[in-house]
Amino acid sequence: MSVQENLNRIHQVVKDACKKENRDYNCVNIIAVTKYVSIERAKDALASGIQHIGENRVEEALKKWEVLGEKGTWHFIGSLQSKKVKKMIHQFDYIHSLDRLSLAKEIDKRTPEGETMKCFVQVNVSGEETKSGIKPEETISFIHDLSKYKAIEVVGLMTMAPIVENAEEVRPYFRQLRELKEKIEKLKLSHAPCHELSMGMSNDFAIAVEEGATFIRIGTALVGKEE
Ligand SMILES: *Cc1c(COP(=O)(O)O)cnc(C)c1O
Repeated sequence: MSVQENLNRIHQVVKDACKKENRDYNCVNIIAVTKYVSIERAKDALASGIQHIGENRVEEALKKWEVLGEKGTWHFIGSLQSKKVKKMIHQFDYIHSLDRLSLAKEIDKRTPEGETMKCFVQVNVSGEETKSGIKPEETISFIHDLSKYKAIEVVGLMTMAPIVENAEEVRPYFRQLRELKEKIEKLKLSHAPCHELSMGMSNDFAIAVEEGATFIRIGTALVGKEE
């Protein structure tokens, strides 16, 4: 399947989900997760009108960025080692995996003077031990603690739902993330506007959009998976 055909299908699913919940379709951004595919395929994604590219490994991402960097908006979606921040901070526009103060400190240190880095705080809503992320009940206090790192801008919350048979089972996790985001928005913190929700992948993005996702991260269903 071409990326364009896949994208058309995904657009339709997003439209239907927005209609069902009375949401503005333009508020949902599609991130093409290109971690499984070649530079060529990532190029196809940009050519099909996709603006956002997501990668989860610094070295692999930088190879793609060298070729395609100027053309897109780059999202780092994987767990990030502090020592790699300095390598990627100039290439990426968003980090979706802020999950500890030591990482925030390093991002703060490496962000050019006078600029900010747009970050999502990753929350482990399902409580699975294999998943990274802040516990929901500790998220607000974590966000308060981030205020001392002047370069960190908390644009929203991110989560990864558990892998389930029936996508409907993940709805409570997405809903919980939205409710937490709304609580944080109400605090009106200058360093944490927190208007965005990064949630939903190939198998559950329709539910995520119904629950308020503003960034969906789609790999397999959009660009496929190459060996
Ligand atoms: C790989 C990955 C995705 C995309 O996964 P698909 O199921 O292929 O859509 C989304 N988010 C994160 C954090 C990922 O690591």
